Amino acid sequence: MIDRLVLTNALREQIAREAEESFPRECCGLVEGTLSDGTAQAVSLHPCANLAKEPDRFEIDPRDHIRLLRQLRGSPHSLIGCYHSHPNGQAAASARDTLGASEEDFLWLIQAVRCDGAGELGAFVFGQNRFHALCIADRR
Ligand SMILES: [Zn+2]
Repeated sequence: MIDRLVLTNALREQIAREAEESFPRECCGLVEGTLSDGTAQAVSLHPCANLAKEPDRFEIDPRDHIRLLRQLRGSPHSLIGCYHSHPNGQAAASARDTLGASEEDFLWLIQAVRCDGAGELGAFVFGQNRFHALCIADRR
């Protein structure tokens, strides 16, 4: 089970900036990285088109998803998770997020954002039908 996430400050800022730029809509994207010894390490973030029509939802464009899986074929990195923002919300998984989650050991990064800027970033891993909070470290 993954219990720790390594996310550099630069990547953390990238999520915050995307959340601010998409406000009041949700931004979303996929996380490329590695998983080993209980630690997930994010290597890069891939912003995706949000196909959801409602402002408080996200739906990653499946074409972006497939493109990234193809791109990572044969690479030492894999698709380890997704991220999205909660405009005027909490850095925690919503009931809808829990319904939308299915893949075990998949990371979920949730950025809280308000009109005056990005707030807290929450990191979770999905397993046994629920989200488990992860500790975020800047380096390994
Ligand atoms: Zn959400």
